[in-house]
Amino acid sequence: MKIAPVIRIDAIRYARHERTASANFTSAVDDHEVPMPLDYFVWAIHRDGFAPVIVDTGFGDDAAMPRGRTITRPMIEGLRAAGIDPGQVEHVILTHLHYDHAGSLDSFPNARFHVQDAEMEFATGRHICDHATRAPFDGEPVAQLVRKLYADRVQFHAGDAEFAPGIRLHLAPGHTAGLMVVVCDTARGPVVLASDAAHLYANITRAIPFPIFIDEADYAKAQAKVMALAGGSLDHLIPGHDPLVLACFPATNDIARVDLEPHRPILEAL
Ligand SMILES: [Zn+2]
Ligand SMILES: [Zn+2]
Repeated sequence: MKIAPVIRIDAIRYARHERTASANFTSAVDDHEVPMPLDYFVWAIHRDGFAPVIVDTGFGDDAAMPRGRTITRPMIEGLRAAGIDPGQVEHVILTHLHYDHAGSLDSFPNARFHVQDAEMEFATGRHICDHATRAPFDGEPVAQLVRKLYADRVQFHAGDAEFAPGIRLHLAPGHTAGLMVVVCDTARGPVVLASDAAHLYANITRAIPFPIFIDEADYAKAQAKVMALAGGSLDHLIPGHDPLVLACFPATNDIARVDLEPHRPILEAL
């Protein structure tokens, strides 16, 4: 039997934001007043014989307080609860540079940070002069990444790339200029860490985007791309902010094993 390169993927929740459905879609929805909170995750990809690869780095109190987000458990404590020593991490993939995906870089003193060319260019260029575009970015994490660049600790990618055996990066812009998603080969087939190409399963099933994007047409293409990468199955797509991830997949202590089979009735009811 062929052994899958990726043996475990943890989705580790670290924060939450209470809101209603109307905040999660670009157009009116019938259930607009129904609670539809967002969860915030980082992900850890485990392979035999390698340090875990971390996908995104979350945010801390400095970003949570002004935005009214609740840290449910500091990101680093979540990693430790998953058996991960941040000092041993060699590679961190930043799906994009929004504040909730790219803070706390100094928590990984020995890691290289992987980012798309287009994302770094956008986050350090003239588009950030526009306050609405800038709102989901924070200057300090981007400045930290620039400092890592000058310390030879940033690795750029341009488009789709083989990251390591069983781990591939796919450019899926629209939400931001250089958002990338991560596809992992597991025992149950590909698992797509979709990040903010799909905040919620409902953004896919209702075909209504989450209302933060720089190009709506590209965002729609990105959603189609992540579904194609998932083989057309929600089972294989892990959205970036959906509390259902912890409900669908075997989970303990706010850590969901998304490499395992989901509880299908929940997904089938969507
Ligand atoms: Zn985002
Ligand atoms: Zn996000």
